[in-house]
Amino acid sequence: MSRFSSERLAALDPYVPGEQPRDMKYVKLNTNESPFPPAPAVLQAVAAEAGKLNLYCDPDCTRLRAAAAALYGLAPENILPVNGSDEALYFAFTAFCGSARPMAFADITYGFYPVFAAVTCTPAHILPLREDFSLDPADYCGLHENIVLANPNAPTGMALAPADIEKILLSNPDNVVIVDEAYVDFGGESCVPLIGKYDNLLVVQTFSKSRSLAGARLGFALGNAALIGDLNTVKFSTNPYNVNRMTQAAGMAAIASQDYTLENCRRVAENRAYTARALEDMGFRVLPSKANFLFAAHPAAAGQALYRALKDRGVLVRWFDKPRIRDWLRITIGSREQMDALLAAMKTILNDERSA
Ligand SMILES: *Cc1c(COP(=O)(O)O)cnc(C)c1O
Repeated sequence: MSRFSSERLAALDPYVPGEQPRDMKYVKLNTNESPFPPAPAVLQAVAAEAGKLNLYCDPDCTRLRAAAAALYGLAPENILPVNGSDEALYFAFTAFCGSARPMAFADITYGFYPVFAAVTCTPAHILPLREDFSLDPADYCGLHENIVLANPNAPTGMALAPADIEKILLSNPDNVVIVDEAYVDFGGESCVPLIGKYDNLLVVQTFSKSRSLAGARLGFALGNAALIGDLNTVKFSTNPYNVNRMTQAAGMAAIASQDYTLENCRRVAENRAYTARALEDMGFRVLPSKANFLFAAHPAAAGQALYRALKDRGVLVRWFDKPRIRDWLRITIGSREQMDALLAAMKTILNDERSA
């Protein structure tokens, strides 16, 4: 910290992203990236756009918004493209929260929500998940606070039905309910069809996971035109060119490659079922996941020890040093070869443990 830093900065506990190691080649199952490259059309579109990097990009993302409107069945005014969906969440906290307007969210959920609360001076109202890590929608009904839910949730992978979210929307009519659908393409049900019905619903999606564009940084805020207008006020007050030229081109090409996306999501779901079964056969408890990762715990092995032993064997997974989930690992679903490498390493580790 410098001698110039503000009190607010001193109080911040920033988000810690998953490791992106450079020391050796790992089987990388720690940040929920796609194991598949971007669609071929994306590579072509980005290459074609690179020669125009001397020119500013379209701050309104006009063509990208039109393409996304067709994809989501919305009007362009319901859509704001963002520099990764994290930016949409930050814009929303900035636009709708503040010291007198708390944000409610679960104790076990995306680790960025408490950070956004802190940086926007928003009181965090933390609601514990049930013992089995499911979320009780009744906890959020009639709260009269802004709410953010990841659906499917991270790091559990468990999903709510849109009907449950509808109850939350109806019983908090004067507050914004943000539904973070980062993982919805892997088997969850989207709340996008509810946008026409509820002016307090803001859905956030990302192209980082299902569309293999984590490095391009592209997400979308989707909602009522007035809500999107508020987010635009934040965007044009901070960074009007938030989605760069190559990412806008990549996004349009990814939308046009919908068959490729669907096929990759199908393969992830297949590998997820395969991996869950194999982990259960080794004695793991595995939560029912609708996402591109599994959350698993072994009754005879501590989470941190497993994480370290896997890392020693070149397999990187995510371990969270947090209450309630210290004995759990979040394992990204990759290719079949990556999952076989994980399972083989896990088998060796558990056998060594047993014979020790
Ligand atoms: C990955 C993730 C995001 C952020 O995605 P980006 O679009 O890459 O910023 C948002 N929410 C959740 C729950 C995530 O897991």
